[in-house]
Amino acid sequence: MRMDVHGIGMTSQRTRDRLIQRLREEGIRDERVLEAMRNVPRHLFVDEALATRAYEDTALPIGQGQTISQPYIVALMTQALLAGGRLKKVLEVGTGSGYQTAILAQLVDTVYSVERIEPLMKLARKRLREIGCRNVQIKLSDGSWGWKDHAPYDGIIVTAAPAEVPLALIEQLAPGGRLIIPVGGPAMQELLLVQHTDKGLSQERLELVNFVPLVRDSI
Ligand code: SAH
Repeated sequence: MRMDVHGIGMTSQRTRDRLIQRLREEGIRDERVLEAMRNVPRHLFVDEALATRAYEDTALPIGQGQTISQPYIVALMTQALLAGGRLKKVLEVGTGSGYQTAILAQLVDTVYSVERIEPLMKLARKRLREIGCRNVQIKLSDGSWGWKDHAPYDGIIVTAAPAEVPLALIEQLAPGGRLIIPVGGPAMQELLLVQHTDKGLSQERLELVNFVPLVRDSI
């Protein structure tokens, strides 16, 4: 059977709407985020063999031992990032499939994204181009160092987990900026919101999460 990626079956708008309904029930309130997630076809960011599972609220494998994040976590992180108001420049660390990148691209002016695994970076770039995301720049590098050329960022979102917040990311956060990052060991982490305020840095715990580790490349 040939799958119709645009219309019928498990990837249809109705299937997507059910996921959005579920995200609402799980407590996602930001209509901008829900609308972006309604619009971006998640099934195009996973292997065709997994496309029918793309609108389940689960993480899925994307190869190279990595995963596309669970939709609820993507929504939660994006909602937390946007809660301070409109964002111009956002840095994402861990492009992976490019799905979170595509969601951000609907909601902010420009997304800069870094990924350390070349085949994933290239595939994400291709998929984002195909769905018409033009306000995204991706590069291959170790995102623990951020992306200095375009700093400072109004928001930084990290989709792989370090043991501690990398200093470079704090340094590249604009005044008033928000950093969303999972921090902890390999089995479980705390999702943190770090804010750069007039009085210095503040930190808030959002939720327990489970991300793949942030890998530091030796230089
Ligand atoms: N947001 C992505 C999540 C992918 S999983 C998605 O939903 O598809 C996390 C990604 O972070 C993986 O692709 C992994 O290769 C990448 N990663 C891990 N350590 C990294 C580092 N130091 N710099 C950049 N990317 C990193």
